[in-house]
Amino acid sequence: MMARPYNFSAGPAAMPEEVLQSAARDMLNWQGSGMSVMEMSHRGKEFTSICETAERDLRELLAVPDSFAILFMQGGGLAENAIVPLNLGQGGVMDFVLTGSWSEKSHQEAARYGSARIAASGQAQAFCAIPAPSTWQISSNAQYVHVCSNETIHGVEFDELPDLQALGSAAPLVVDFSSHVASRSLQWSRVGLAFGGAQKNLGPAGLTLVVVRKDLLGRALPICPSAFNYQLVAQNNSMYNTPPTYAIYMAGLTFQWLKSQGGVAALEARNLAKARLLYSCIDGSQLYTNPVDPSVRSRMNVPFFLRDEKGQAIADPSHPRNTAFLEGARAAGLLQLKGHKSVGGMRASLYNAMPLEGVQALVDYMREFEREV
Ligand SMILES: *Cc1c(COP(=O)(O)O)cnc(C)c1O
Repeated sequence: MMARPYNFSAGPAAMPEEVLQSAARDMLNWQGSGMSVMEMSHRGKEFTSICETAERDLRELLAVPDSFAILFMQGGGLAENAIVPLNLGQGGVMDFVLTGSWSEKSHQEAARYGSARIAASGQAQAFCAIPAPSTWQISSNAQYVHVCSNETIHGVEFDELPDLQALGSAAPLVVDFSSHVASRSLQWSRVGLAFGGAQKNLGPAGLTLVVVRKDLLGRALPICPSAFNYQLVAQNNSMYNTPPTYAIYMAGLTFQWLKSQGGVAALEARNLAKARLLYSCIDGSQLYTNPVDPSVRSRMNVPFFLRDEKGQAIADPSHPRNTAFLEGARAAGLLQLKGHKSVGGMRASLYNAMPLEGVQALVDYMREFEREV
């Protein structure tokens, strides 16, 4: 089989080839059961074992303490922007730290279910920096404080989660970790709830992961849909209604792959090396530029711009230099590098499934392109 191209999509994103091959082998007949995983009852013994194994592997990989429930849900990160306030907001005050498009969206949606306040915002710095936690204005009566720990579009990432207790707040921290879950270790002692869509770093679209401290269950507003009530979902082991069975299966295969690679610590070291390679190429060039404060640059999503003849960053995707870059990249086997439409330019997403060789191929191509313009 011919080598597949390297896929830098921000999501749905590349999956490990071994995972795809394993799923292909078992597509028609999973482990001698005579069924595709898609055809199994979610309450039957085969799928129950798939789901329990996936949850156990995930708990081990992310070192999730027993005081947290792991929920497999649907609706994606965007649905969680409503489901979290419905479950934790109690119609009261909820604080948001705005660090880019995704936290802005979370704030806007929560405003429909209570009093959503802005504790801090990086907007004045064009979301190229994260306001220092010591400057955050946390409400004394906040039901929770929301952060997006990796902003997929703006390419900023918290290097460490804020310690709300040290800031004098007892509010639980809610973390949208959609686009960097399992790419690095995480301090659960600082977290009340973390959520993420699977399609960036865990598996295919359709599965949403929620990890919630058990003492936060049971606070849902009466209007919260039952299928989105964390307590009901937890009591029913994510089987209150039919879960996204195939997506859970694929995520489970990805968890096994992650374990075979040495777990999250090994992936974190690899991810750091990948990010360093690409940022040093950008910083060492005259053509490419990344506007983000180096202390908060994302390891997962690297937005960058090409400069024009005058040295100005080119956002416009239809600029001939941008189209030439993307065409050449495609020809070199480097896919989906176009930036998000709201910021333009380019973006390379370097999730767990992207090998170092893929980033090396990108950097080689970028250097060659720069020599030729
Ligand atoms: C992709 C993404 C989302 C939205 O996920 P959907 O599954 O499309 O709802 C939310 N937050 C972050 C940080 C994301 O990267």
